[in-house]
Amino acid sequence: SNHSSLKRWGKQAFVSTFPKRDTYSHKGSHGKGAVIGGQRTMPGSVTLTASAALKSGAGLLTIATVEDNIPIIASKCTEAMYQVLEDRDGVITKNHTDLFKAFDGLAIGMGMGRDEVTANFSQKLIQALDMPMVIDADGLHHLKPILNTVSERNHPIIITPHFGEMAMLTGYTIDEMKRKPFSIAKEFADQYQLYVVLKGKFTIITSPYGDQIVNDTGNAGLAKGGTGDVLSGILLAMIMQNQSTMAALGNACYIHGLSAEMRVKSGENTEIDLLASDVIDGLSNVFRTLS
Ligand code: AMP
Ligand code: MG
Repeated sequence: SNHSSLKRWGKQAFVSTFPKRDTYSHKGSHGKGAVIGGQRTMPGSVTLTASAALKSGAGLLTIATVEDNIPIIASKCTEAMYQVLEDRDGVITKNHTDLFKAFDGLAIGMGMGRDEVTANFSQKLIQALDMPMVIDADGLHHLKPILNTVSERNHPIIITPHFGEMAMLTGYTIDEMKRKPFSIAKEFADQYQLYVVLKGKFTIITSPYGDQIVNDTGNAGLAKGGTGDVLSGILLAMIMQNQSTMAALGNACYIHGLSAEMRVKSGENTEIDLLASDVIDGLSNVFRTLS
């Protein structure tokens, strides 16, 4: 395959593309985002995504989730606002997509569950709203049946599968994925005209136009539940803050991995005890190092 346009994203790329916070900026300048997900058994997922987005500079953040989750999440993430999603027994059912029209970006799918009514809600929402959106986790399962309907849009869809989810989406086996991740990601991004963040030890970011970049920051401490939710929040914050989409995605993956590395190098964590929430806490040192 043709790797001529392949770039490794690093510190230099981050520093030259990450926008400086303007002295006169206000919260509206940094994006009004919504995180949509979290069935009753998974309040932590959207909490991590929302906290990561705020810690990555997002201006305003709303969490849309089932009612029972809200007091739990609010005790962990003081700065977020809330939107109740109707539920039956803790499973997200229907709601009006109109509620999300006024946002600058969405992250959808984390801890959301795969119930048919939930999938239906996600599908209507994805189809009704042409705005930048990150689709992750259960949202990828909801997206699969409607992939053919999402290619003609003005704003980017970013999908964030790990290898298992990419195998589910494409029909390739995980072995085939491991042999040719670059060409499989490129083929898929081209076919459905979306951005693919294929996550793993190395993360391959592909645009619908065939550009590819690789991120190699991170460590095995990230191999733990919740770290993908954190990445989705960082991605949401980055795509809302005035960068080219590829730079936004490269920067997000870069700092997510760098935070994990710095937490271990500084002695605050080991790869064994590193938690997704430590990756969020580590962002402060990351931004200090990079500015
Ligand atoms: P998920 O599979 O959705 O939970 O996301 C896991 C996140 O952690 C992704 O951003 C992966 O790239 C990252 N990750 C998982 N395992 C490793 C590893 N061994 N080395 C580096 N990054 C990893
Ligand atoms: Mg995940």
